[in-house]
Amino acid sequence: MNALTDLTPQALAAQFAEWGAPPSHAARLLRHFYNRGGTVDWDELLVGKALQERILRELPLRSASVSARHESTDGTVKFLLAMARGGSTETVLMTTPYAERAAGCVSSQIGCAMGCDFCASTRRGLERNLEAGEIVEQFLYLRAEALATNRRLSTLVFMGMGEPFHNFENVVEAIRRIASPDLGGLGWRQVTVSTVGIVPGIRALADLDLNINLALSLHAPDDATRATIVPANRRFPVAEIIDATKYFYEKTGRITNIEYCMLAGINDSDEHARMLAELLRGFRTHINLIPYNFTGAGVSGRMYTRPQQERLDSFLKIVRAAGFIAHFRVTRGDDVNAACGQLRETMQA
Ligand code: SAH
Repeated sequence: MNALTDLTPQALAAQFAEWGAPPSHAARLLRHFYNRGGTVDWDELLVGKALQERILRELPLRSASVSARHESTDGTVKFLLAMARGGSTETVLMTTPYAERAAGCVSSQIGCAMGCDFCASTRRGLERNLEAGEIVEQFLYLRAEALATNRRLSTLVFMGMGEPFHNFENVVEAIRRIASPDLGGLGWRQVTVSTVGIVPGIRALADLDLNINLALSLHAPDDATRATIVPANRRFPVAEIIDATKYFYEKTGRITNIEYCMLAGINDSDEHARMLAELLRGFRTHINLIPYNFTGAGVSGRMYTRPQQERLDSFLKIVRAAGFIAHFRVTRGDDVNAACGQLRETMQA
């Protein structure tokens, strides 16, 4: 059965019309529901007793439920959500440098087929795509958590489990609801989709011109290095991915974030830093260096470690000296396995 989270305003209006209720209540109910993080205050909403009862009887508000909530000592909260359609997924609310704001991270799939060797989300392969409503569910739980702690959910990144461009339609539909001023009201520019580098997906998103941000999980400047840690590189080599990313910038004017997970002895040499600077020369990007978070042995059996601080600093210095804006991503939530790369469908944090 569909839940309210699954419905577009049009679909809900049609349902109300079928019930003989005013279709105009649909948009009002949805906006109220989204603003409150997935709950309804019937006294405030006032849609009439008959409609209220019918909704309560026949239209579940949500289809996901929280099966575990883990809070990190740094304030990051990770939810394990059980999906009515089967399977479970993880979603994370992070603190930001601003006390009154929080940043959300949602999953687009249950599991992941990409096989990146240092990432836990892919270890058991792909179970299934999440539906648009199931992505909206995550957003609503994050918003509710932020509201409960007097914060505003100010950004949302698709950096949880899964490859968003392998679930393109549902991801775009979810973003349309989350960002729409009439529903989630988050704002297009507050949304970032992160990809391993699925070239047709990058180009298709550029063509939609949604004014959202793109992040590219690059992790290595050259095919030889990248192919050993990111199997998807065999399909789309670095040069093609960068071309598509430039196309995204030309079409949308949005600056791409380059994500680079730093793995000791694999992609962290000064030579890699110089190659990265060369690869991105003349292209306006922000480089996010993500010191590796522990995830255990990769599919290859390889164990990874985080580079020493001097190595991280040396790498950062080289890309900055080449004129790039570059930062380390602050690790959040790693004590409850909520940090980048640590999400998986069965949680043992
Ligand atoms: N499939 C998409 C969305 C997932 S984003 C993508 O690849 O972009 C997950 C982010 O976490 C990616 O930037 C990834 O590189 C990073 N990541 C994965 N494993 C990590 C780890 N062990 N330590 C630090 N970052 C990691």
